Amino acid sequence: MKHIVVIGGGIVGLTTAWALLERGHKVTVVEREAEVGMGASHANGGQLSYRYVSPLADAGVPIKALRWLLDPDGPLRFKPEASWSQWSWMLSFLRACSGPVNRRTTARLLALGAHSQTAFARLHREARLGEIALRAPGKLVVYRKPAEFERVARRLKAGPKGPERALSHDECVAVEPSLKDNDVLFAGGIFTEGEAVADCYEVCRQLAARLREHASFQGIHRASVQGLRRAGRRVVALKTSEGELDADGFVIAAGLQSRDLARDLGLSLPLYPLKGYSLTAPIEAQHRPPEVSVTDFERKILYARIGSQLRVAAMVDLVGEDLRLDPKRVDSLKRAVRDTFPQAADYDHASIWTGLRPATPTGAPMLGATPFEGLWLNVGHGALGFTFSFGAADIVAELISGHASPLPLDGLQFAG
Ligand SMILES: Cc1cc2nc3c(=O)[nH]c(=O)nc-3n(C[C@H](O)[C@H](O)[C@H](O)COP(=O)(O)OP(=O)(O)OC[C@H]3O[C@@H](n4cnc5c(N)ncnc54)[C@H](O)[C@@H]3O)c2cc1C
Repeated sequence: MKHIVVIGGGIVGLTTAWALLERGHKVTVVEREAEVGMGASHANGGQLSYRYVSPLADAGVPIKALRWLLDPDGPLRFKPEASWSQWSWMLSFLRACSGPVNRRTTARLLALGAHSQTAFARLHREARLGEIALRAPGKLVVYRKPAEFERVARRLKAGPKGPERALSHDECVAVEPSLKDNDVLFAGGIFTEGEAVADCYEVCRQLAARLREHASFQGIHRASVQGLRRAGRRVVALKTSEGELDADGFVIAAGLQSRDLARDLGLSLPLYPLKGYSLTAPIEAQHRPPEVSVTDFERKILYARIGSQLRVAAMVDLVGEDLRLDPKRVDSLKRAVRDTFPQAADYDHASIWTGLRPATPTGAPMLGATPFEGLWLNVGHGALGFTFSFGAADIVAELISGHASPLPLDGLQFAG
């Protein structure tokens, strides 16, 4: 049995802590906020999107990005910064925008997604999570442009058989009748059965409660980690705002801030914040929310019912580590939501949130060992950290326990 300290009380850190306890370790979580799940895991889109994993970096995306930037309501915003981390990330992202890189990454993420689905089912059962607004209504990605829809439908037909089905406009409406409530013309959609949705913040809270009940759990230590102390090539302690904390091993799972912690040891993690917005509006008896999760492909907006609330998540803003609500982006989101699902929820009482997706250029997370003994990573989950957290935690806990990874880690590791 080892004593492992996990840095970060977001969904990735908490699932890692659970997976380590399950393997017989003693575990401490260090979190700087008073509550868990207050970072990117707080009000995200809630998608457990095990199959819809294709990363943003793809052939044609740089050209599309130029169009998006010219559209004030477009999904992308870019503010140049005088920072090497922004420009080097952008260069690596542009290099990753190719068909072969996208296909390789998608294959790895599909395997991670499938592993995560199994790991989530086990955790849900064994941690006895209560009400987390879990449903598996399936996911419908709707396309406005016929050419785009036909391209994706052709690719689907040519690829290996999966649970995805290409649907005409009328078939989309049959699957999700609330699409009738708008004047938006959708050419068609891809429906994937089995895709799920849940409240990520509630999962964090309940998981923290279950961790606290576990006999080998050493607690959630409220402190801000400021650096790591090493002896030779081994990390031996954390330097925190509350003093030093030593242990046999350490897992960096601090979302975007992981890059600052790694930098303290001279490790350069290619992470950049992709800022997103979400809107959460109450659903009352008179409303007609979508029951399946709907993604508006061209606008990159997703809609999901999470319990009695409609959650809408959108936008990719490359504006640095800035959590301010930009009024123009908020107005644009509210307009899009009212146009697309006018009768789905009480938008007059909606709340707005922003979060920073801790993203790598390819969209693949970095899991496992570092060049330092006793230091492990579970970082860079980008737009799908809720989805991947369960599988990634399982992999990292296996590695720390001295076992082989259950999945090939090619492309899912820190490259140094
Ligand atoms: C708008 C939006 C929508 C999204 N929708 C989805 C979705 O539908 N499905 C999906 O799978 N994913 C989604 N994501 C992505 C997902 O939310 C993230 O990938 C995931 O939450 C990352 O989890 P994390 O634990 O790595 O980071 P975080 O949740 O940010 O947790 C990191 C924690 O570390 C703590 N911390 C940081 N630095 C320190 C320090 N120095 N000392 C101590 N503690 C520290 C922070 O306080 C924080 O609690 C979305 C993200 C956004 C922004």
